[in-house]
Amino acid sequence: MAYRIPSDTEVVKAIKDALDRHGVINSQRKLTDLVLRSLRRHDSDYTVSEERVRKLAISNDIATIEIRCRDTKDKTSAGACPVCDGKTQRIKNLTVYGGSVTMGYRCRTCGYWTGLKSRVPTLYIFSPKA
Ligand SMILES: [Zn+2]
Repeated sequence: MAYRIPSDTEVVKAIKDALDRHGVINSQRKLTDLVLRSLRRHDSDYTVSEERVRKLAISNDIATIEIRCRDTKDKTSAGACPVCDGKTQRIKNLTVYGGSVTMGYRCRTCGYWTGLKSRVPTLYIFSPKA
């Protein structure tokens, strides 16, 4: 199957259009569908992944994103944010002994956070940034 990859600029423009037209979009799939529909008006072979749409929306600061997560029993590993690839920071708590313990991790870019047991994002809600 033939497909083509649109540029970041084209995808960002399509995300903006979708948010302008629809306001709050309550799933990543729905946003990606709208973006694809708009991109394919220019080129019917264009394709874009949900992940790329999400990351571009965040990195270009065009959407406010609300992240719903589900708790897992898996241990959280420190590292890049699973939502936007941003840097995560330790959430620390002071102990009565004067030290501090890590309670989890938070992303400074998109607001994703997790405790020591991994929280896995399951739903993203996008709203246009004023
Ligand atoms: Zn993030």
